[in-house]
Amino acid sequence: MQGFIEKPATIVPTPNLQDYDETHKTFRWQDAYEKVEWFEDGRLNAACSAVDRHARSWRKDKIALYWQGDDKASKYTFHELSNLSNKFANLLTSSGIEKGDRAFIFLPRIPELYVSFLGILKTGAIAGTMFSAFGTEGLYDRLHDSGARYLITNSELKSRVYEIKDDLPDLEQIIIVDETDVRGGEISYPVEMEKASGTFDVAKMLPDDPAFMLYTSGTTGKPKGVVHRHLAIVGQHATTEWVLDLHEDDIYWCTADPGWVTGISYGLLGPWSCGASVVVHGGRFGPEAWYSMIDQYKVMVWYSAPTAFRMLMRASDAHKKYDLGSLRHICSVGEPLNAEIVHWGIRTFGLPIHDNFWQTETGGILIANYLSMPIKPGWMGKPIPGITAAIIDEDGDTVPHGTEGDLAITPAFPSMMLEIWKNPVKYAEYFRAGWYLTGDKAVQHEDGYFLFIGRADDVINTSGERVGPFEVESALIEHPAIVEAGVIGKPDQLRGEIIKAFVVLAPGYAPTDDLKDDIRKFVKTRLAGHAYPREFEVVETLPKTRSGKIVRRMLRAKELGLPIGDVSTLMGDE
Ligand code: AMP
Repeated sequence: MQGFIEKPATIVPTPNLQDYDETHKTFRWQDAYEKVEWFEDGRLNAACSAVDRHARSWRKDKIALYWQGDDKASKYTFHELSNLSNKFANLLTSSGIEKGDRAFIFLPRIPELYVSFLGILKTGAIAGTMFSAFGTEGLYDRLHDSGARYLITNSELKSRVYEIKDDLPDLEQIIIVDETDVRGGEISYPVEMEKASGTFDVAKMLPDDPAFMLYTSGTTGKPKGVVHRHLAIVGQHATTEWVLDLHEDDIYWCTADPGWVTGISYGLLGPWSCGASVVVHGGRFGPEAWYSMIDQYKVMVWYSAPTAFRMLMRASDAHKKYDLGSLRHICSVGEPLNAEIVHWGIRTFGLPIHDNFWQTETGGILIANYLSMPIKPGWMGKPIPGITAAIIDEDGDTVPHGTEGDLAITPAFPSMMLEIWKNPVKYAEYFRAGWYLTGDKAVQHEDGYFLFIGRADDVINTSGERVGPFEVESALIEHPAIVEAGVIGKPDQLRGEIIKAFVVLAPGYAPTDDLKDDIRKFVKTRLAGHAYPREFEVVETLPKTRSGKIVRRMLRAKELGLPIGDVSTLMGDE
């Protein structure tokens, strides 16, 4: 066909990154910028790099997205995705969106989420995503801090937004994806998409222009807005090839929701930039539902998380009913991947599970066990080409192999965050002596592999999701029965950690089961479902420093029966 590049001969899936040591020594990001056709006059747009590029090639009619809902399914070619996202970009533009505006998506995993995300990027606005389980507090924190002007949601979720809308002066436009008859101030997606043109003059962005943002938790304060730039796609593309070993003939399934960074970097941008077909499961987790996805779509590369693998492991024989023979590579992220799960992978799928490590702020994978290299079960692997990873001490000096310290990275790589939204002080706190600090403790073996030890702060990792104790404590003390709360992560066999809350009750309240139930429900409406405390303990007082800060490490030590450590700065005689 004229104007289209011919499809090359079938790609043999030889593992990518054949010579890790040599590549790690010689690779420069500059090489990646020069080799790939991302840029036109020094500008790019990540949505074009991911999708439009293919819609203009022989991949035009190749399926980009297979979507499976609970009782319906649909599929979209690269051309269709490009066309729909152009329509959505036109919808946004005609309603007045401007470059740099924040447009947030609050949707379950339905095709409109993916179309909206790409469409926002095409206009030059910044796309924000919010997990559909967020309660009003989680929504308010994000929409208020980002000053979002646009919100894309559906008829079911919008009521949560209207509860807080009066306190969101910047929120001007609400787009409803499943209603034709909308109320004043709302825009109907079906009506306007029908009318919109499928061609759009995509905004040509500078590499450092912001593309999307996600909120993430630290130890103190509200969640922070991590902003990623259009250039990030170059890093996401490279790591999708090196680590997920994606070849363009692959059918690929990333189980993460785009409300979290994995669902963006490796749920859509990275794999589409490689021209692969992406499978999305819109429904809830369940062993049967998940195995049937692999069987039905003949998934070849699968990216998931340890809690999910542990849940599947508990469902022992559930996989036996399904043909999982299409799988050729399995990867895991988000929490420590115990060696036991790696071995379960071998027993169950005939494949080991490959661990990799990264975080919201880095926008892409940092450390991995590669398909082309031996796996070291229980270890996270080696750093990707183009970065140096090290274990450093408090002065920023590297420590000898085998010594525990702070896991640090050289920060110059394309998917590294651009900024913390409106918070340069917080951004600056991530750096020490030229290193970027991950906030994690780790050890490096002399063979180069890294071992994860734990967080350096009080941040909780429950089922692979990062929860700041302060957010949960703030939600708890809004309950009339609670005067003070201290929240910790308690080790859990299935979820890695669960959230445990220690609360001090207001006078006149007794610690009954009814009260605990009421508190749980109360917190659930404010925070995302995963962030509510599974365990409660009523205490008389909480350990505090002389300046009044709750000492969570003491709560944790008491809970786990560990030594309490230095108490010299504590109040009273605790
Ligand atoms: P998030 O930014 O929400 O993706 O969370 C990132 C955090 O999850 C990291 O800082 C680690 O604490 C943890 N994490 C991510 N991947 C791994 C892994 N492979 N092993 C252990 N912890 C991990």
